[in-house]
Amino acid sequence: MKVLIADDDPISLTLLRSALQRWGYEVVVAKDGEQAWAALSGSNAPTLAVLDWMMPGLTGPQVCRKVRELSREPYTYIILLTSKNTKSETVEGMEAGADDYVVKPFHDHELQVRLRAGKRIIDLQTELLDAREELRDRANKDLLTMLPNRSAIQDLLEQELSRCHREGRTVGVILLDLDHFKRVNDTLGHLAGDTVLRETAGRFRSNMRTYDRIGRYGGEEFLVVLPNCDLEQATHQAERLRSKLDQQPVFVDGTQLCVTASFGVTVSDGGERSPEVLIRVADEALYRAKASGRNCVEYLIIENSRAASDVVGAPAARE
Ligand code: GH3
Ligand code: MG
Ligand code: MG
Repeated sequence: MKVLIADDDPISLTLLRSALQRWGYEVVVAKDGEQAWAALSGSNAPTLAVLDWMMPGLTGPQVCRKVRELSREPYTYIILLTSKNTKSETVEGMEAGADDYVVKPFHDHELQVRLRAGKRIIDLQTELLDAREELRDRANKDLLTMLPNRSAIQDLLEQELSRCHREGRTVGVILLDLDHFKRVNDTLGHLAGDTVLRETAGRFRSNMRTYDRIGRYGGEEFLVVLPNCDLEQATHQAERLRSKLDQQPVFVDGTQLCVTASFGVTVSDGGERSPEVLIRVADEALYRAKASGRNCVEYLIIENSRAASDVVGAPAARE
């Protein structure tokens, strides 16, 4: 673990450094308060700090206050080194945001156990932050296909729409739905159906540009967001995805399955449109693709869409 030590007294600094290195810490050195603040507010900052009280530039408590004002994650655990062991100084240091203090000249073993207590707090917080990150990730993910789920892909579309609108670009949208998927479940069982969904999702994802996004919109429906794409490019991409599925069978438990999908394509018209409008128009195009025999791509622009004019909400997933 990386620890910042800050002291303007070179002898004290040398003593601190060798003690901390002996205890296995990676030591970052600051010779005054300004340097300490720079290290603690910079990127990849140490999360444990031992700060001398009296230093030129900024004092230890002043550095403390600035770190607390920053209120960054992960937390910085700060131990103040004080030469005067008075109640009022202790209170002042803790009021400034210090977590602990050690009286100078420091007692080796005392500093070691106080640092260990700080490290425990930081380790615990790291675990909590990781768990929170994991939960956030799970909340946005469809656990069968590992793609963004419905609300996550809708959010992505919304972000892309406002970004591209600002930059005067258009966003392509594809809504696709597997054809006669119910038959897979009915003939091979639900688990086989799950395998087909996973395989299909993987195939789509690996055949897209890195900045294009795909999410699971509903049961066997996927939504694709294509930033900086016009209608022609979006339709071309839909055709590409269609043939990637159509040209190679999917193997489930030794059975070879021909899986196809129908695609509805539209594009933002540069105006400020909601994701719901675009999804609805793509859904209308998808409906046409189903009606004209499936395993094909249909496109529709907003002006020609009936659905766009009477949007109330996004269409329900077709299940
Ligand atoms: P169409 O070509 O008109 O889209 O026909 P379809 O059979 O694909 O459509 P339908 O809406 O009749 O059936 C969709 C099926 O998808 C029904 C539902 O049980 C199945 N499904 C939805 N989610 C899942 C899932 O997570 N796993 C599995 N195995 N099946 C699912
Ligand atoms: Mg279907
Ligand atoms: Mg469906």
